[in-house]
Amino acid sequence: MNPPQIDRFFAALQAANPEPQSELEFSSAFELLAAVLLSAQATDISVNKATRLLFPVANTPRQVLALGQEGLESYIKTIGLFRSKAKHLLETCRILIERHGGEVPRTREELEALPGVGRKTANVVLNVAFGEPTMAVDTHIFRIGNRTGLAPGKTPLEVELKLLKRVPAKYMDHAHHWLILLGRYVCLARKPQCWRCVAAADCDFSPKTPAP
Ligand code: SF4
Repeated sequence: MNPPQIDRFFAALQAANPEPQSELEFSSAFELLAAVLLSAQATDISVNKATRLLFPVANTPRQVLALGQEGLESYIKTIGLFRSKAKHLLETCRILIERHGGEVPRTREELEALPGVGRKTANVVLNVAFGEPTMAVDTHIFRIGNRTGLAPGKTPLEVELKLLKRVPAKYMDHAHHWLILLGRYVCLARKPQCWRCVAAADCDFSPKTPAP
């Protein structure tokens, strides 16, 4: 995709959904960090179900830490890998209290130093909680980057760096959400639904999937 195509591609996504939202439910940077940490290899729906019970009881590092391993597990046991996620979240809470005054840090280095927090989670927190122009490349964005010609790359990092270079600054606040939603609901892994894609005119994927 060339720069004018990329511009039109995002303009189309923007026109269809001017204010895209994360499907994870949260109301603070800490809730977002906890929800993203819990969401690895799990659906947003399953995480929301658990955090709707957890956050009213504990939505600060101190409160979550006070639950202890068993207490925390009882809220999140419907989420895959809940034991190790509970362990990571508790350890993360301890570090937030000891090193960051109970706040979520704002730098990539500090975020990635937290247990269970990798580059993708750090990118989500930096972008969604702090408005940084980052790009968290998940399976959907990796696929779309390659399939559309927007940001071809062999690794998530390669796709991330290309997206950062190629997506116009004016779209960076929402680009991550637009691409995730496109991948979740239209540009599906097994068969992209090109016939109902608002950005089809500027996507390089060929031949486009016709309407069934
Ligand atoms: S036109 Fe098809 S391949 Fe291209 S982004 Fe849309 S759904 Fe995906």
